[in-house]
Amino acid sequence: MADRKVRVRFAPSPTGPLHIGGVRTALYNYFFAKQHGGDFIFRIEDTDSNRFVEGAEEYILESFRWLGVKFDEGVSFGGNHGPYRQSERRDIYKKYVKVLLENDKAYIAFDSPEELDKKRAEIDNFQYDASTRLQMRNSLSMSAEEVQALIDAGHQYVVRFKVEPGEKVVVNDLIRGLVTIDSSILDDKVLYKSADELPTYHLANIVDDHLMEVTHVIRGEEWLPSAPLHVLLYRAFGWDDTMPQFAHLSLLLKPEGNGKLSKRDGDRLGFPVFPLEWHDPKSGALSSGFRESGYLPEAVINFLALLGWNPGDDVELMSMEQLIEKFDLAKCSKAGARFDYKKMIWFNHEYILQKSDREIAEKFLPIVEAHGVKAELSYLEKIVSLMKGRVNFVHELWDACSFYFIAPVEYDEKTAKKRWKENSARQMTELADLLEGLEDFSIENQDHAVHAWIEEKGYGMGEIMNAFRLALVGEGKGPQMFDISGLIGKEETLARLRRAVSVLA
Ligand code: GLU
Repeated sequence: MADRKVRVRFAPSPTGPLHIGGVRTALYNYFFAKQHGGDFIFRIEDTDSNRFVEGAEEYILESFRWLGVKFDEGVSFGGNHGPYRQSERRDIYKKYVKVLLENDKAYIAFDSPEELDKKRAEIDNFQYDASTRLQMRNSLSMSAEEVQALIDAGHQYVVRFKVEPGEKVVVNDLIRGLVTIDSSILDDKVLYKSADELPTYHLANIVDDHLMEVTHVIRGEEWLPSAPLHVLLYRAFGWDDTMPQFAHLSLLLKPEGNGKLSKRDGDRLGFPVFPLEWHDPKSGALSSGFRESGYLPEAVINFLALLGWNPGDDVELMSMEQLIEKFDLAKCSKAGARFDYKKMIWFNHEYILQKSDREIAEKFLPIVEAHGVKAELSYLEKIVSLMKGRVNFVHELWDACSFYFIAPVEYDEKTAKKRWKENSARQMTELADLLEGLEDFSIENQDHAVHAWIEEKGYGMGEIMNAFRLALVGEGKGPQMFDISGLIGKEETLARLRRAVSVLA
């Protein structure tokens, strides 16, 4: 066991868009695999055809492509343990169902849903288990001939796991420690259904983890109740020696109040809970995604990594390499992790700052173009370098700096009242004349010339700069004045100054 190569898997069911909790589960598996030089497998658990949703598998793959998380094998990646889609593994599961039946670890049951309902009405808290199974219609209560006759006559059946009562079941969880239960509380779970010739989640999951040589099962807390049954299944197959180690991650909690994070929290507070936008094929409803909302994949990864785990130091910003190096299952918390979406926004801001101006400019370009403006990337790069510290999302740059592209058509009334004084028109005309005379329109030279002029005339620095800003921006915001005039250029600066003089007078 000790020298087995680390192999972990992410095994979603294609029932809809991948929830952000699922993304975190996948990330933790990824960090763990990479840290140990192991393999990360992508398996599709699609044995429940009723819950299958068209497009979900491709959506999940696209989400990880966007995040930059790579699988080593699995659906669409290939590998030696395929097929990796459970619906393509029918024959494999049938073989293992047979093994359990032959070894008296499972049995065939014919009870119809109506019969089960009747039993439930008869017996309080009815559970299909050692205490009731002999009252039911199955291969334990019926003769072998009767069973065969029913099967030959085409009756549908299920295969149930025969849980022996009174056994101690221990789940050794890397996050939660030892979880011990008495097998008597478990029911005889359905493992296989003849109707669709498919196993249920439990059987397929165990058989695949075994055959795919999975060493660690890292998954969400919602699967913890299934773990004792899974341990018993490994035992029933005689696979105890290679049973994976379990680690059940804590829940993601609402940003405020109690309970688990839901899509409704996101809708109410304005953040996505899915990696990508999702168009529901049935209802047509549209759910927002992190990608389309302007989050950078690095920010999403860093934020999610710290939901339920922390490296124990105060470092928050970590690259993928650092996360892989530092990640530690033993430091994952048992308690739920609050989904602090404001922190997520902070991460996005930090990653915008970390990225090169060029990269942000490239992301900003289509936004600028969508406003009908043609601009050079090198021009955007300069603007980005001045402005990126002021935004949390790239798309916010437009509102913060549209004056770099479009001259003000009107002047904010409040600002004009406060900043455009009696002398402003005369002063701005003088300023325009002064700037017009400058051969060298560099930021430094303008700065130098304008300061000298202000001093010579005895003007107030504030009154000049405020009126200048109003003329160029149309309101009271923006960076340092010469960072504006320098970038928009002499001609545009003069035009804006003269227009302000004529409009505001
Ligand atoms: N198919 C399960 C899911 O959708 C996988 C659970 C597991 O990892 O064992 O999450």
